Amino acid sequence: MTTPRALCLTALISVALCATAFSQPADAANPDPAPASSVAAAQSENAVHASNTTGKPTLAEAEQWMAQTETELNDLTVKLSRAQWVQANFITDDTEEMSAEANERLITAQTRLAEQVKRFDGMKFPPELDRKFKLLKLSLFSLPDKKDREDFTRLASSLEGDYGKGQYCPTTGKFTGKCLSIGDIEKIMASSRDPEELKEVWVGWRTVGAPMRERYVRFMDLQSKGARELGFKDMGAMWRSNYDMPPDQFSAEVERLWQQVQPLYDSLHAYVRTQLIKQYGADAVGRNGMIRADLLGNPWAQAWGNVYDIVGPKDSKGRGYDLTGILKEKKINELGMVHYGENFFKSLGFAPLPKTFWERSLFVKPRDRDVVCHASAWDIDNKDDLRLKMCIQIRDEDFVTVHHELGHNFYQRAYNHQPFLFQNGANDGFHEAIGDTIALSITPAYLKQVGLIDTVPQSDDTALLLKQALDKVAFLPFGLLIDQWRWQVFSGQVQPADYNKAWWTLREKYQGVMPPVTRTEADFDPGAKYHIPANTPYMRYFLADILEFQFYRAMCRDAGHTGPLHTCSFFGNKQAGAKLNKMLEMGMSKPWPEALKELTGEDHMDASAIMEYFAPLKAWLDKQNAAAGVTPGWTPDSNPQAGLY
Ligand SMILES: [Zn+2]
Repeated sequence: MTTPRALCLTALISVALCATAFSQPADAANPDPAPASSVAAAQSENAVHASNTTGKPTLAEAEQWMAQTETELNDLTVKLSRAQWVQANFITDDTEEMSAEANERLITAQTRLAEQVKRFDGMKFPPELDRKFKLLKLSLFSLPDKKDREDFTRLASSLEGDYGKGQYCPTTGKFTGKCLSIGDIEKIMASSRDPEELKEVWVGWRTVGAPMRERYVRFMDLQSKGARELGFKDMGAMWRSNYDMPPDQFSAEVERLWQQVQPLYDSLHAYVRTQLIKQYGADAVGRNGMIRADLLGNPWAQAWGNVYDIVGPKDSKGRGYDLTGILKEKKINELGMVHYGENFFKSLGFAPLPKTFWERSLFVKPRDRDVVCHASAWDIDNKDDLRLKMCIQIRDEDFVTVHHELGHNFYQRAYNHQPFLFQNGANDGFHEAIGDTIALSITPAYLKQVGLIDTVPQSDDTALLLKQALDKVAFLPFGLLIDQWRWQVFSGQVQPADYNKAWWTLREKYQGVMPPVTRTEADFDPGAKYHIPANTPYMRYFLADILEFQFYRAMCRDAGHTGPLHTCSFFGNKQAGAKLNKMLEMGMSKPWPEALKELTGEDHMDASAIMEYFAPLKAWLDKQNAAAGVTPGWTPDSNPQAGLY
């Protein structure tokens, strides 16, 4: 995920959403989010006078108003971050109340600013000021009607609250008498190999979504109403306006990127399907070539790494090393893992993290109080009060997550000299991609370089790449379709009577998965995915999944890497680091293609890097598929909600 601040700015909503959006599992594929600050704004008396002036404002007035607004937002953001940090680290009724109060101040201020900013509509500004007005507008939300505002905030918190409290409490079967949280269900779906059990918990978790449907209709209507107040066609168009191009062009852009990667996804899909048939039998997999959605190791079939034991090559040497085992054997503790992450950035030429980072972060789950354990990266004062909040476990996936989070922190610090409205990722996909770009460099050769292993093991490249692809390639269509669905709902193209049908139409079209049991419009399956009730935009994860490979390829070029792309580690390369820093320190001050160009020399998002990275795997998959006599692809059902049973 991105910083809460980025969320608030781009997604428009209230801090309540921002705050909680970060404290929840973002998604298993892309481990975490990074909170930080939020656009707040308590009513400060001196900020109001601009709106009281009548007549055409002058350029000087516009400049003054903007400066004042940035100062106000910055101050409130810092205060809000502190309240949110305390809340996340000491969950009590009091800290929740304090955070909620900060939220209310934000909404009030946003509404006021949305009204005031209209005064400057149609004025011509110098480029920097013009960009600030654009970004400010994209961060605001306006519902002038008090009842609408109340409904909106109530709906926002009740939908997200329902997801957070959601449980499946079966009255029959193996889990009778228990109530399963989403965490329990994720564990079951990761490890169970019993198709009946998988089907049961898959269906069971979706009972959380159904009761949200009526409220969700009004919630989406109100958002589009708010977006129209600010001059956007609907809220989907407003979300898509965050990418320095017209909304329709952005839709075409993500579709173009999808077309680039689709052949790779299709090959992986066909191969995994064959292996699942071997495991579960022909009936257990699906119709028309689609895969049953509950058999892929994850409640949403969004990342498939958990079924590696079923689908991985049987005669393989595997990765050749076990990082979890090494960390334990070498007695590397939580703090030690963070030092490895910091050390990577230092090796690229970045300054060490400030002393306060080590004093104020949370690295270990406390024994005596409730905290939000979900990993996140914070920038409390928008300067250098950087923090990590994570209940680190000594295991390989947390080693990667630490790098991901620190990517947010180093980005935040790199742009801290920018004006407030430019303190953000070039676009929200960039913020998510940085840490993962670094993590792609965690190769066996790198582990030897930093002394975690003594010799570079005889790894099997297919095993290494397949494990990566089950998460990063399998995620692509999922990352794409969440907002495709929401854009259609926001625009009215999909009506409430067809919510679930439209959802499954996209799931079948892009992912090639089908429900294990028949779904109807009495269900609301989108509601069973956190980012829908929490209202968090999702396209950033799709973009990050593509961008991280593009960044990585560019840095590998700078580091003079030769050989297959996936064997590159740019650890220790100052030249690659300097280029990365150039991009990071721009923040959001320029359109993202200019930032991209600093690092890569390219001004378009380009999936050819992820294709190059996985090229050896693609060749291997195609060979396996041909040997099995399997043609990649599937045919979506005429009734997309029809299940296997
Ligand atoms: Zn993140």
